[in-house]
Amino acid sequence: MRSCKEIAQLLVPGQKLSLMQRVEIKMHLLFCKCCGNQQKQLEIIGRALQRYDQQFKNDSKQSERCQELTETIIKKIIS
Ligand SMILES: [Zn+2]
Repeated sequence: MRSCKEIAQLLVPGQKLSLMQRVEIKMHLLFCKCCGNQQKQLEIIGRALQRYDQQFKNDSKQSERCQELTETIIKKIIS
């Protein structure tokens, strides 16, 4: 069984997960409320990033800053 920290890293948006990893996440979330909340937060960030990315897709400087900010937020959440 994976730890909360490992699950949090798998929950970071934008990565490709294997079927096994997705099953592991689902199993973990069944009994871990803490990670469930974290998953919701990461989903919200992922969606916000997508919107922002579309808005600034012609502005690489803004887009880059957005990516940096998102990485910082995600690192804070999963650490
Ligand atoms: Zn957990």
